[in-house]
Amino acid sequence: MAQFAVIGLGSFGATIATQLVSLNHDVIGIDSNKKFVESISDQITHAVIADATDEHVLNELNIQNCEAVVVAIGEDIEASILCVLHLKNLGIKKIWAKAKSKAHHMILTHLGVNKIIHPEEDMGVRVAQSLSYPMVSRYMGLEDNHFIVKIEIKDSLKGERFNHLMEHAPEIKTLLHKRGKDVLFSIDPNLILQVGDILVVEGELEPLRKLSARFK
Ligand code: ATP
Repeated sequence: MAQFAVIGLGSFGATIATQLVSLNHDVIGIDSNKKFVESISDQITHAVIADATDEHVLNELNIQNCEAVVVAIGEDIEASILCVLHLKNLGIKKIWAKAKSKAHHMILTHLGVNKIIHPEEDMGVRVAQSLSYPMVSRYMGLEDNHFIVKIEIKDSLKGERFNHLMEHAPEIKTLLHKRGKDVLFSIDPNLILQVGDILVVEGELEPLRKLSARFK
């Protein structure tokens, strides 16, 4: 169990805070707006009404003891930057922050923020992906143009032989097949796919695109 702080409890910050609690972590949530603090106070370890641009406040909250701090303030760029500066001064090693614009992103990069998140853009990419390839239920980008993709078999691929599907993109590696509770890491090439089967595959974007043409 670790301790985290989330500064800014709008829908983005509040979701991070409650998810961390559900993963059994201690979470201090801070927001200058009483309404947001009250609505989350019984769901996280400690919810505080405070102005995160005030270094003394952050100091008093013992934020230094946190493993990581998420700055989830987007609209007020000045507040976001000041808050990050104070966190740096307090010696916080791991700071993640939300950015609203390119300029905001650049400033946060220069301040040494470890990870900069663009929630709307990231979500937009995901929504476009799932509209475009309805069978892709999740994906994760790795380094060097590699992706891990979770495919949920729908009606159009029902009865398809696994090796017949995969011969469209031989470069793709299948990491696992899941049917109900059964997970197989070594897949019989003659396996007949059923609706609801899950395949987790790994590969580069181009061969994945070729394969995904079969998902429509
Ligand atoms: P979301 O998209 O997460 O709902 P939002 O875009 O509506 O957020 P933001 O401007 O990103 O709003 O701010 C997120 C939260 O940060 C708000 O709840 C706001 O009250 C809080 N906040 C803004 N400035 C400060 C500050 N100086 N100190 C503490 N909290 C702040």
